[in-house]
Amino acid sequence: MTPITAELKKETKNIPVRGMMDNVMEQFNSAADQINLHPNIRKILSITNNEIIVNFPVKMDNGDVEIFTGYRVQHNNALGPYKGGLRYHPTVDIDAARALAMWMTWKTSLAGLPYGGGKGGIKLDPSKYSLSELERITRRFTFALADNIGPEHDIPAPDVNTNSQTMAWIADTYMSTRPPAERTANQHVVTGKPDASGGLEGRDRATGYGVYLSIKLWSEKNNRTLEGKKFIVQGFGNVGYWAAHFLEKDGARLVAVQDAFGSIQNQKGIKVEDLFNYSKINDGSIVDYPNAKTVNKNKFFALDCDICIPAALGNQITKENASKIKARLIAEGANGPTNVEGEQILLERGITIIPDILCNSGGVVGSYFEWLQNRNGELWQLDEVMVKLQKKLKESFDKVYEYSEREAMDMRTAAYCIAIERIEKAYIQRGIFP
Ligand code: GLU
Repeated sequence: MTPITAELKKETKNIPVRGMMDNVMEQFNSAADQINLHPNIRKILSITNNEIIVNFPVKMDNGDVEIFTGYRVQHNNALGPYKGGLRYHPTVDIDAARALAMWMTWKTSLAGLPYGGGKGGIKLDPSKYSLSELERITRRFTFALADNIGPEHDIPAPDVNTNSQTMAWIADTYMSTRPPAERTANQHVVTGKPDASGGLEGRDRATGYGVYLSIKLWSEKNNRTLEGKKFIVQGFGNVGYWAAHFLEKDGARLVAVQDAFGSIQNQKGIKVEDLFNYSKINDGSIVDYPNAKTVNKNKFFALDCDICIPAALGNQITKENASKIKARLIAEGANGPTNVEGEQILLERGITIIPDILCNSGGVVGSYFEWLQNRNGELWQLDEVMVKLQKKLKESFDKVYEYSEREAMDMRTAAYCIAIERIEKAYIQRGIFP
């Protein structure tokens, strides 16, 4: 074992929220059993293709040098270039990156995109660094990744604690280090860029819109409307905020929010834009919002509501809280928010879960549009983007819903079956080199 691996193992042990890899593997194996996945393909999909770990130095504002560890795991590229976000968070490690990369493989396959799956990030707490330090960290990380990413090879995007600014720094660094004639042609090395830098109109709201749309489509299939339905959101970042924005527009009522700093509730309703404006002047947090009461963080998932949207980190709904959940519908805005034990309890209680790989796939579909736009030298309008997004997401939703009804299985297993069958077909057609 190398010193780095030993160190990582030690660090992983100390992280309380873990086991994402166990979750994704259990989910994969149970779907693979359902479809009798060919054993050779099961072997291939059970491991990651490439795992890149980089340690790199960055000069801090005070002149000191700090060493950071960054990851990029490339799980599978049978359907196209690796695709998936980069997150900046203290819980980023090799286990998390592997699990998240696998989820991307299923997500892009299910969405019918010509992509594989990858994920990565840096183990750090971004709130501890200045903007200029974050810029240098991002640029140096990009430089360290070098040709392990590329517009036709592996295309990062935003994820937890990274945004369009982070993507602009990555694109600029990557392009600046190419030979002169290739620079601008490499703009699509990342997606989720700001609009003046090759970004897609609407990419900011794409994930949250998809979360909203899947809730709406599920409600329609079950003869329900969104009018007056109470929902709670964990995480008021890009995904949680936009999902709440669209739900409120359709008459649903936001009654509680939790972020990394605290939880608030008001059963009469919390105005989404008002809370968003408050969080902007409160260091990005919803804590102490004047028009709601503070709630104990351990009671959050037990709050009275119809719909629960976990839109923060993985492993949030577990056997500790699943039996107390009041919502009848869970819409997974985050990746892996429900672990296998938590899910079993929810399913036994007749609670529906719209699984992450379907529910939050609006983000990567938006990324695909941005990549196409850059590749073809086009600029798409917002209304055009939203129409295309809706069409693509509805197709996936209908496919999963019908499969789950037909095969009498939960929506996650159905989504996995569809995703894995598509990859299996690609392997069967192409065979294994040599
Ligand atoms: N990070 C997002 C996700 O987990 C977006 C990935 C992408 O657009 O490539 O789906």
